[in-house]
Amino acid sequence: MNSTSNQIHFSKEELDAETNRLFASLSHLGWTKEICQTYASLTLEINLLKKEKNAIILAHNYQLPEIIFGVSDFVGDSYQLSKQAAQTSAETIIFSGVRFMAETAKMLSPKKKVLMPSPDAGCSLAESISAQDVINLRKQHPDAAVVTYINTYAEVKAESDVICTSNNALKIIESLPNEKIIFLPDKYMAQNLAKLTKKQIIGWEGLCVVHEEFSPQKLEAYRRFYPEAKILVHTECSPAVVAIADLAGGTGEMQKYVSNSSANQFMIVTECGLSDKLKVEFPKKKFIPSCGLCPHMKRNDLRNILKALKNPSSDQFVEISADVARRAQKALDKMLEFA
Ligand code: SF4
Repeated sequence: MNSTSNQIHFSKEELDAETNRLFASLSHLGWTKEICQTYASLTLEINLLKKEKNAIILAHNYQLPEIIFGVSDFVGDSYQLSKQAAQTSAETIIFSGVRFMAETAKMLSPKKKVLMPSPDAGCSLAESISAQDVINLRKQHPDAAVVTYINTYAEVKAESDVICTSNNALKIIESLPNEKIIFLPDKYMAQNLAKLTKKQIIGWEGLCVVHEEFSPQKLEAYRRFYPEAKILVHTECSPAVVAIADLAGGTGEMQKYVSNSSANQFMIVTECGLSDKLKVEFPKKKFIPSCGLCPHMKRNDLRNILKALKNPSSDQFVEISADVARRAQKALDKMLEFA
C-alpha cells in the first residue's frame, strides 16, 4: 500500500486478499470474483480510514451487500443499531441507513460525531407526519397517550410520550394506564396492533412505500406454489397480508425466526436487503424472491461512505437542536426501559 495525492494505492496481494474476503460472503448471492474485485480497493480504503479516524459503520439490515459484508461493524434493525450507537467508544459513527435512524443515534450519543453517507436518505413513514400534527392530535384526544414508532423524525419524537419499535409496540401500549392510544404514524401497524389489544387505537395515514406494495393475492399465489415455505412479513404490511403470514414482526424477529426454524424455505416479505443478508448467513436455506426495494435505503453506497469518512460535507453531519433532542430523548428513554 502507498499513498499519493490523497489516493491510497494497494498492492496486488492486498487487493487479491480483499477480493477473496468479499467473495467468501458475496458468492452466496451469485457474485463472481470479478465483481468482488471491482469493490476491493474501496472496501480496503474504508476499513483503513475507519481505524485511523476511530470510526465505526452501523448498517441497517436493508443496506447493500457490499456495505453489510464489506465495511460494516454492526448490522441490525434500527433499535439494535441505536443501542450500539449508545455503547460504542468510537468517536465517529457513520450511519448507513436513513435519516431518522441517524438522528436516533445522535440523540443517544450526543457527544459523538454522527455522519450520514447520503443526507437525503428519508423515509415515507417519517415524512408523513409533522410535530404540529402531533400537537393537533393531542388537542383532539387529551386523554390519549402518544406512542410513536421509531420511524419518525426527532421533532415528532419530541412531541410523543413514548417511542416504540415493531417489536415492543404492543408491550408498551399494554403497559400504559391510558385506555386510548394515539399510535403514529404507520396506519397498517396501528391496524395490526388494534387487533391485538382491547385499547382504542387512533392511527395516522402514514405508509411505508415498500410494505404497502405487498398484496395478499400475490402471497396466496406464492403459498400455493411453495406450500413448504414459511412466510415472514413486516408489521408495516397491511392486516390482510399479516393474516397470511407465519410470522409478522420486524427485521430482527424475522432473522431470529429463520435462525431457529427447522424449515428450509422462506419468503421474506420486506425490503430486499434483508433477504440478501439471510442468503449469505444461511446458505443452505432457500429464500424465494418476494421483496421490494426501498429507494431511501439504497441511496447509501461505498462511495458516499468513503466521502463521509474522508472529507465529509456539512450536510453529512447529523445535528439536532438541544431542546428537540432533550424532549425526544425523554420519549426514547421510556422505550429503552422496555428493552
Ligand atoms: S423501508 Fe419503508 S419504513 Fe423503511 S426506510 Fe424505507 S420507506 Fe421508510
